[in-house]
Amino acid sequence: MNDRVDLEALRLAVYRAFAATGAAPYAGELSAGLDVGLGAVRDGLAELAHGRHLALADDGRILMAHPFAAVPLGFSVMGRDTLWWGGCAWDSFALPHLLPDQAPVLVATTCPACDAPHAWRVGTHAPPPGGQVAHFLVPVEHIWDDVVWTCSNQRLFCSVECVDRWLAREGLERGYLMDLVTLWRLASRWYAGRLQPGYQRREPSAAADYLRSVGLDGSFWGL
Ligand SMILES: [Zn+2]
Ligand SMILES: [Zn+2]
Repeated sequence: MNDRVDLEALRLAVYRAFAATGAAPYAGELSAGLDVGLGAVRDGLAELAHGRHLALADDGRILMAHPFAAVPLGFSVMGRDTLWWGGCAWDSFALPHLLPDQAPVLVATTCPACDAPHAWRVGTHAPPPGGQVAHFLVPVEHIWDDVVWTCSNQRLFCSVECVDRWLAREGLERGYLMDLVTLWRLASRWYAGRLQPGYQRREPSAAADYLRSVGLDGSFWGL
């Protein structure tokens, strides 16, 4: 058993476990699968979290490997033969693009303002029909201050009226509103490559180009 872990192999093992099972792998499973000591796996996970490939709980458990989540954040995503916590609205709409064999997936949630249930069949060819609106609370420059909080506040609502009612009730300022078409476009290629070896995060300028290309604008997105 090795006492050093190849970070990219570890990252891929986490992503592939999430993709195949819907659940985060335990450090012990990663250690056995990669033939690397448990301490090295834990150090590697911390390093991946530092590089924003993962979000970890205080006890080291994997909470998120975007767009995968190990905790409920308001969404479920049912594929052909696998069920995932959907992460946020962005992440839920991204899963069929990352896992086209599972598409179209059933994304389900409830409106945070009025608890009305909503569901869409989300595929890779066109955005789903619907007049619902996505509301993102946290501006892009603060996404990683507390990424679980950020994702738990990227939700889908019945209408702008429901967004405003929820904001007033929670004492929060409006963030960014988008329709389902824009959300689907945002989700379509953002996470491309994360299930392949050699994945590199986008440089800031490429990220900005992508966000502009899907129709986003303004200081909320750092544009
Ligand atoms: Zn998210
Ligand atoms: Zn509502």
